[in-house]
Amino acid sequence: MKWTHLIIHHTGTEEKDARQVREYHRRLGWRDIGYHYVIERDGRVVPGRPPSMRGAHCLAGGMNHKALGVAVIGNLEARPPRPEQLAALQELAARLMAEYRIPVAQVLGHREVPGAATACPGRFLDLGRLRAVLARPEILYLVQVGAFRERDRAEQLASELREQGFDSWIAVR
Ligand SMILES: [Zn+2]
Repeated sequence: MKWTHLIIHHTGTEEKDARQVREYHRRLGWRDIGYHYVIERDGRVVPGRPPSMRGAHCLAGGMNHKALGVAVIGNLEARPPRPEQLAALQELAARLMAEYRIPVAQVLGHREVPGAATACPGRFLDLGRLRAVLARPEILYLVQVGAFRERDRAEQLASELREQGFDSWIAVR
């Protein structure tokens, strides 16, 4: 499969876990759970159907053949995603974008696919903000090591850090 899009869903009901979603989809007569990944309530990412299998999550736009499907468990029309779920979604989406070279403009909520008549993934999932986070070229982790009243002491620490091979700079606040 050539995956060019990533479609974000919510499950729309408060299932207990991915297994329950999978059992439900199998009862519908599907070969497997419709999504490729499910994000559980605690932020755990559970593999759904393998990425080698076409999706069963978004008929509109022929997306089942073009898009990996990720579902967040819960009704995000009624409540916001849990912080753990949002963090997991950002991380997973960033990983899939890198792995399959999916541009951020092709990371869509189900409802954003032309022809899809659905509220999925719910009004509490901010897709614009998700894309803004994913569009950042990189994440930077800053370490602050000290605050001094005397400039000399700040210079001293900064030069010691540089000697040890760390970039360091002095800021004023
Ligand atoms: Zn959906």
